[in-house]
Amino acid sequence: MTFDELLKKLDYLNAQDKKLIRRAFEFAEVAHKGQKRFTGEPFVQHELETASYIADLKLDTSAIAAALLHDVCEDTPCTQEQIRKNFGRKIAELVDGITKLSKIRIVRRWLVIRDEKELQEFDRYTETLRKMFMAMAKDIRIVIIKLADRLHNMKTLQGVPKEKRLRIAKETLEIYAPLADRLGMGELKGQLEDLSFSYIEPEECEKLKQRLADKLDKKEKYIEKIRKILLKKLGKEGIRAEISGRKKHLYSLWLKLKRYDDNLSRIYDLVALRVIVSNVEECYKVLGIIHEMWRPLVGRIKDYIAMPKPNGYQSIHTTVFAQGGEIIEIQIRSRKMHDHAENGIAAHWHYSGKKGTLDYLRRKINRVPRSELKWVQELARWQKNLSDNKEVIESLGLDFFSDRIFVYTPTGDVKDLPSGATVIDFAYAIHTDLGNFTTGAKVNGKMAKISTVLQNGDIVDIIKSKKETGPKQDWLEIVKTSLARNRIRHFFKTHKPRF
Ligand code: MN
Repeated sequence: MTFDELLKKLDYLNAQDKKLIRRAFEFAEVAHKGQKRFTGEPFVQHELETASYIADLKLDTSAIAAALLHDVCEDTPCTQEQIRKNFGRKIAELVDGITKLSKIRIVRRWLVIRDEKELQEFDRYTETLRKMFMAMAKDIRIVIIKLADRLHNMKTLQGVPKEKRLRIAKETLEIYAPLADRLGMGELKGQLEDLSFSYIEPEECEKLKQRLADKLDKKEKYIEKIRKILLKKLGKEGIRAEISGRKKHLYSLWLKLKRYDDNLSRIYDLVALRVIVSNVEECYKVLGIIHEMWRPLVGRIKDYIAMPKPNGYQSIHTTVFAQGGEIIEIQIRSRKMHDHAENGIAAHWHYSGKKGTLDYLRRKINRVPRSELKWVQELARWQKNLSDNKEVIESLGLDFFSDRIFVYTPTGDVKDLPSGATVIDFAYAIHTDLGNFTTGAKVNGKMAKISTVLQNGDIVDIIKSKKETGPKQDWLEIVKTSLARNRIRHFFKTHKPRF
């Protein structure tokens, strides 16, 4: 991919914005000069591909510039200060946010899971990592750029040393894909899952592909026939629709097969028909027309328009006996619902070019369906203070878990603590005995006092005293969590000084 190819996708930006983006590209090109990806390509290819995906989503200028610069602070001597001087505070903050997210990793000991109990523990662990991800990203664009970054890394994973591949694929499947899903970015989620699947379960993946080979071909031909019939019929009824076939993503098919006794003939949406119309009214009209033509299967009509999925997905699904008695699934939705189903929260970030007002911003937020925000709402509240109303989208950030921090143990476990928590709180969060006999800690490899306030992403190694010293009275003033406070009080109650 070349810079000119990226430029072609930026028609929605003005000349000044494009100039800034060119500058960001040239900066990245110089910074990464001589560096190569594992695939042997010049490093800057990765920045171009990441930015290209962000441009496909039609995010704003800062997001594209940040995508081009996203590895500069991590992989070259360039500092955040230099980014700030050259590109301003906002872009520097985005780049910094993306760099920080690199701390989120699945540690080696979780690469093999031996039993059900470990699996449950692993699920809790990955959920914490997902929360940590959102907590550390102060701006939704940071999350989206990081997902785009991961998509290109997954596409080029073959070049990465073998021992790293499994970890990266697992992170993608367990952290990145679920996040994409929760943000409603269905297309990205599907791609990330399928890429991970081929590395985590290579044999299963290959087997499934082979099983599908001729079946898919037949099904696609059949769907094409039905597509034409339906298009003609809708035309006669005065409805202008766009109809296409969509293949089910491999990984989600694999999961579904497990629920259907591995019986491929029970999967009706291997290839589904997707009907896109202009509004909700037409969606229901089309449903009526289809049911008039072909008999629906009992219990298979799902109205996600009236009842959207928790991530905001909307569509009507129905399964019918079409021509010749073959069973197919048809999905009906409006253009807006479709954009949302593919790109989720990013669809609401489309750069409009309007240098708007607070009012404009509020209207934009209000258009995000309530249901979509459900998960986000649990974690976040919309930041309302706008520092600069010139760039509307720039100033819209998410303040996830503003009052929580996530801290690592030396083995890579994560503890979720209130912000302001100290080394002592962390020690008690691990184990009462560890808390009681803490004498100090190494925070990110450096010696630290037990009263040290911890930060997001810190790695904390507690030092336990050899003698059983017990907590001190003044610890009660230092600790932030009630857990630590209760344990300290309990210690004093049960270890009364002897006279
Ligand atoms: Mn990268």
